[in-house]
This record gives sequence, structure tokens and C-alpha cells, in this order.
Amino acid sequence: MKAGTAFSQNLPLEGGASSTTAVQTQAVPVELTRKYDVLVVGGGNAALCAAISARRSGSSVLVLEAAPKFYRGGNTRHTRNMRCAHDAATEILSGPYTEEEFWEDLLRVTGGQTDEELARFMIRESKEILNWIVEQGVRWQPSLGGTLSLGRTNSFFLGGGRAMLNALYLTAERLGVDVLYDAEVVDMDIRHGTFFSATVAYGGQRHEVRASSLVAAAGGFEANIEWLKQYWGDVAENFLIRGTPYNRGSMLKMLLDKGVQQIGDPTQCHAVAIDARAPKFDGGIITRLDCVVFGIVVNKNAERFYDEGEDIWPKRYAIWGRLVAAQPDQIAYIIFDGPSLELFMPSLYPPVKADTIQELAGKLGLDPQALEKTVETFNQAVRPGTFDHTILDDCRTEGLTPPKTHWARKIQTAPFYAYPVRPGITFTYLGTRVNKEARMIMANGQPSANMFAAGEIMAGNVLGKGYAAGIGMTIGSVFGRIAGREAAKNARN
Ligand SMILES: Cc1cc2nc3c(=O)[nH]c(=O)nc-3n(C[C@H](O)[C@H](O)[C@H](O)COP(=O)(O)OP(=O)(O)OC[C@H]3O[C@@H](n4cnc5c(N)ncnc54)[C@H](O)[C@@H]3O)c2cc1C
Repeated sequence: MKAGTAFSQNLPLEGGASSTTAVQTQAVPVELTRKYDVLVVGGGNAALCAAISARRSGSSVLVLEAAPKFYRGGNTRHTRNMRCAHDAATEILSGPYTEEEFWEDLLRVTGGQTDEELARFMIRESKEILNWIVEQGVRWQPSLGGTLSLGRTNSFFLGGGRAMLNALYLTAERLGVDVLYDAEVVDMDIRHGTFFSATVAYGGQRHEVRASSLVAAAGGFEANIEWLKQYWGDVAENFLIRGTPYNRGSMLKMLLDKGVQQIGDPTQCHAVAIDARAPKFDGGIITRLDCVVFGIVVNKNAERFYDEGEDIWPKRYAIWGRLVAAQPDQIAYIIFDGPSLELFMPSLYPPVKADTIQELAGKLGLDPQALEKTVETFNQAVRPGTFDHTILDDCRTEGLTPPKTHWARKIQTAPFYAYPVRPGITFTYLGTRVNKEARMIMANGQPSANMFAAGEIMAGNVLGKGYAAGIGMTIGSVFGRIAGREAAKNARN
């Protein structure tokens, strides 16, 4: 047995508490035998925000992370930015993004399927997160350019999600938070809405860990293909999982089985079109394709199936995973020509390239005549306009079903290119219901005595469906911080 991490020297804590000192050792971690104030399950942004916040409130805290240290941090490792409301431009944000505007964006993308009170509360709290997260060691950088156009609304982590996580882990460790890796929670003793202990699989053995409060921050169930198949059927076999293989939903399932109220539709998730050549898990951001608006998208029958120019990309990129999931064999192909090649950020893999559409079809395994006909029909429907992919321009088709309502340009200049795409599942929305204290609500409507949740595992409270870039990290940071604070308060009482 080995301890998961080095523990801290004494550091000042909020509220005048002092931290414990422990030494990294290969021996059995004594921490597992003691009763902690707060047990945090998970190792991503939500977990670390909760752990730091609980520790700063004076609690002893243990973090159990299922992944090995190198892979710690779940999907958070892959992130780049976070969406927070702010009333004025900052060094890194090009203008104000008011609470009201954030709320309207959320309302639009979810189609109203959100808990308004909780969502507005989260948006209000997000304003403080911009500074709070910096106080925890995270650094911002100016917005990246590109098709997502997020310079005003989203703050980007300097060094990306991994650097952000490293900063949070460092702060947590310095404060005296105990962290154990390779430590999966496999069972929990929960009775009548009260958490007593968790069983953790560690070093080939099972250990019972006791704590006064629990914070569940163990992500969604997107990496559990068998669970996905319950709702999607066998098509889920063809889904690629963009993030960690460790988010198998084991915590979520245990909590729901033990009486926590479920929220969200199990088929709802964040899913984008990603390069079909991406690995099954953990391909991350570099496999995403943002070039739909520059071409047409066809299925394996070489037929178009949706308006590629419906709205600006940040508002539409997250529907394409589901659209591709509904196509035969869950595969599609983005087809474009030479002039568009350098207008977007490329994926890790080079596009398939050919001198003619027929040759391109051959390389993709599509019927060459069928693809040629689709491209020709599209080209004939394109009306003249002034192309500008940063606005809803006037380049559109006429008399075509489905139409392409913006950015429609003829695909006619060789070489021709294609990217094969599959549904890339980012994270699921099914979760545990919580209130404004991030406290879990039981199936009978009563708040749990001592169980809190943050991050993906409760995202469905805010995201009934749809997505706006950067909200995943907002949910984790806001509710993580609150969950930690409330869990600590609960432990004190
Ligand atoms: C490629 C990609 C890019 C993304 N980019 C962004 C972005 O730029 N901005 C944004 O807002 N969102 C982004 N997201 C979504 C974002 O990653 C999540 O919303 C956010 O990281 C969720 O944080 P979390 O702490 O809830 O979960 P995670 O960071 O996924 O952490 C969950 C943790 O729980 C652990 N775990 C699971 N089960 C157990 C168990 N039984 N016992 C112990 N530990 C367990 C896992 O190992 C993992 O460490 C992206 C996601 C992906 C996949």
C-alpha cells in the first residue's frame, strides 16, 4: 500500500484552523483509518474546488481519485476555458457579460429545460469564481481566437485544464488535503439520507473510510458504454468518449440506488462531432472538428441530413454529436474544398484529400456517383452572397432540403477534402438533484443530512439539454466551492 501524495506543512487556513502534517510513505496510509470531516470522491475540478473550500473552512479532507496520479483529474484535464458572468471587461475578457445575458444564453441552449432558481444562482456565484479560482493558484490567459469566438464570455486557463488542475492539487496539498490515487469508491453506507462511510478499492484491498460529510464529484457515466446502451441501444457501441475512461458513473449509480433523487434525462449529454479516427477514450480537444460550417455534411449514403449553417458555431457545435448518432452506422463526412482548408483549427488527423469529388468518395468508401450528385445539387442551390463566417452572412441555398442557411459556398475548387466524424460524447447530464447548498435531495424530497454533489454528477440540475461552451467548468467550480464549504459547516455541526 502506498500513500497517494505528499501531505503539507502547516499553512494558515481560513477561520484560523491549522493543517495537519503528514509524510509521504509507502506504508498503509493512516488517513484511511481515521474519520475525516469531509470525504471528496473524484479528482477533477469539482472535487478539488470542494476539497480546497472545505479545507479552508477548517475541515480535515480526504480526496479519493479512481485514476492513477498521471491520469488524475478526469475530464477537467481536457478543458480550456470557463464561462463566468462579469460586469466589465478585464485583462483577459474583451467586454462585459452580464448575469442576464448569461441567463438568456443558458435559457436558449437548454430550451428552458433548467432549474431557473438554481441556474440564476449559479450565474450570480460565477462572478466570484473569476477571482476565487485565481486565489487558488489558477492563472488566466487571453482568449484563443478561432471559430468558437469566446473572447468576451469565457476565460481561458493558462496552460489549459491540466495546468489548472496542477495548480488546484498543489494548493490542496499545501493546505493539508489528503489525496489518494488509484482509489475507486465501490460501495457506500448510506441510510435514510445520511452518509456513514465509503468502501474504497485500493491496492487490491477494500477499505472502509468514514467521514462526517460526503462530497460526490465523480463525474457522469459517459465512459460506461453498457450503461449508455440502456438508453441508446447498440448504436452506443459506435460512440467515442472524448474524456476519461474513469467516469463510469459508479458513484452516481450508487447514490441513485441508495435513495438520492435523480435529475435529468439519461439520453441527454454533451456530444460533438469528432474525428472518427480518434481513440475510443480520452482523445481530448484535438479530435474535435469545427469545420461543419465551411462545407456540407453527408452520411454513409452520401446524403445531406441537416442545415450546416443554421447558427453561429458556438451555438450549434454541440448538436452535431447527436445528429451523427442518428445516422446509419453513426458516421458522417464533412466535405469541403481548398478555399476553406485554413479557415478553422485542424484536428490531430489530416483530412482525406483528393483531386475530384469522385476520387474523394472512393477514399471514404462512399458511392462516387451519389456524392457527386449531392455536391452538384448543393452547388446549384447556392445563391451569391458575401461570405463571412463570423456573422450570420447572406450566403445561402435556395430550393434545397435541408437548406444551408448561412455560409453556403460552392464546393468546386480542387483539392477536395473530407473528415470522417463520429459522435464524441463529452459528458452525460443524468445526475443527483441538489439545492443551492449543493446538498443532495433524496427521492422523498428531503435534503440529505450530509451529502453534497458538484460538477458533472449534478450537471443535469442546470443542463436539461443543450450546452454553451464553458458551462461545465462553471458548474464544477461554483457548486464545488459551495459543496466544500457546506460540507465543512455540516461536519462542524
Ligand atoms: C475534451 C473535453 C474538453 C472539454 N472542454 C471544456 C471546456 O473548455 N470548458 C468547460 O467548461 N468544460 C469542458 N469540458 C467539460 C468538462 O471537462 C467537465 O464539465 C468538467 O471537467 C467536469 O468536472 P468534474 O470535476 O465534475 O468531473 P471530472 O473532471 O471528469 O472528474 C471526475 C473524477 O471522478 C473520478 N471518479 C469517477 N468515479 C469514481 C469513483 N467511483 N471513485 C473515485 N473517483 C471516481 C474520475 O477519475 C475523475 O477524476 C470538456 C470535456 C472534454 C471531454
